[in-house]
Amino acid sequence: MPAETAREFEIVIGLEIHAELATESKVFCGCATAFGAAPNTLVCPVCLGLPGSLPVVNRRAVEYAVKAGLALNCEIAPFSKFDRKNYFYPDLPKAYQISQYDLPLGRDGWVEFEAGDEIKRVGIARVHLEEEAGKSVHSGERLLGSEYSLIDYNRGGIPLIEIVTKPDLRSPLDARLFLEQLRAILHYIGVSDVKMEEGSLRCDANISLRPAGSDELGAKTEVKNLNSFRSLERALAYEAERQREMLLRGEPVGGDTRHWDETRGVTVAMRTKEEAHDYRYFPDPDLVPVVVDAAWVDRLRKELPELPRARRDRFVAQYGLPRYDAEVLTGSKELADFFEACAARYGKPKAVSNWIMGEFLRLLKAEGKEVKDVSLSPAAVAKLLELIDQGVLSGSAAKEVFEEMFRTGREPQDIVRERGLEQISDEQALLPVVDAVIEANPKAVETVRGGEMKAIGFLVGQVMKQTRGKANPKLVQNLLRQRLLEG
Ligand SMILES: [Zn+2]
Repeated sequence: MPAETAREFEIVIGLEIHAELATESKVFCGCATAFGAAPNTLVCPVCLGLPGSLPVVNRRAVEYAVKAGLALNCEIAPFSKFDRKNYFYPDLPKAYQISQYDLPLGRDGWVEFEAGDEIKRVGIARVHLEEEAGKSVHSGERLLGSEYSLIDYNRGGIPLIEIVTKPDLRSPLDARLFLEQLRAILHYIGVSDVKMEEGSLRCDANISLRPAGSDELGAKTEVKNLNSFRSLERALAYEAERQREMLLRGEPVGGDTRHWDETRGVTVAMRTKEEAHDYRYFPDPDLVPVVVDAAWVDRLRKELPELPRARRDRFVAQYGLPRYDAEVLTGSKELADFFEACAARYGKPKAVSNWIMGEFLRLLKAEGKEVKDVSLSPAAVAKLLELIDQGVLSGSAAKEVFEEMFRTGREPQDIVRERGLEQISDEQALLPVVDAVIEANPKAVETVRGGEMKAIGFLVGQVMKQTRGKANPKLVQNLLRQRLLEG
């Protein structure tokens, strides 16, 4: 957007986020919530909406929703209820979704996120509990043009929280940064696995423009199908520009629901947004109201872990880590826990951080694993770092050992012994190799003797090569100096 028009309009964004809760069973029946099961195998009369079946609320789902509300600084309603949101769609067998309308579990919260050096706060209007719909699977790429569609009801009835922000976001980038922070919080508190690629975290965005300095809200457009952080930011940037051009042409904007087409990089109009009363909300007579007393809220509040930003700041203060390290290490709760367990056993936190941010993250990524999949123990990591300190292992040999530890969970001492990786720190063992390298590289030797000390690095490298990385490089350097300069 050119600067002169950027000043004319202000972008106003609010998000609606759906997060599947990571309960073992569904929200109103006992069916399992596992991802990837064969279609229509995780269903029962309740979640299929068969006549005569009755829902019973899953206590754990209520607790997860309350925890999410607390982590987002919401007031928790002591009394709330479930309502039926009526609409007809094949993936909704009852022709209504059980949701919460006028009495959500949580309201009036806020989340802070960082944009550069600035801390920004976004209001949370509400957090409520509802059920997932089933999933339509079309024979073609999408409904339009498909020969047939199939429905998998496994997803139907998985508990879901809907989080609605206030229209406090002012740029597509801020929307993305906020959503990343929200995702981190939900993941930290363990209520959702927040995988955008599997659809367990989804986001719709409302966006409007208004004259800069105005307090009134312009007519908004809702953008759907934002299934990655990148899509969210791109779609909003596109939509802001589209609306700006329309406003400059004097055309009416907003009121429509649009679909983000990731491939073409455009938003496309869907259907006109239904007004709330079209859903004919009314209290679900099959479910009792939800009463969450103060003692229950207190207990859940105590169960909340330290949240990501607080933990990052503590890592800087307590371990003296650079802010960047602290940011990476607290990127997930599991990684932060692993770091702290290692740091508790080995006194140099920065060294621990280097290994985790370097080799550990590299191997996780290369093997497509998560921290919990790895049997590497913090005690073994501490032991490895001690072996390096004691001069038993060179840096490169340590990497080899670390990789084996990562794969097998074995103790570093055993791997070192088995592979014969002990660093050679014995002068008498190294001198013959040093002499052979000097003999074989007269040119480099001449350069070093001529005062070009940089060339000594080449000779050290040759000795390391001859010893397959096992020589103690400091000792090799000293021996070379003795031989070439003092000898
Ligand atoms: Zn069921």
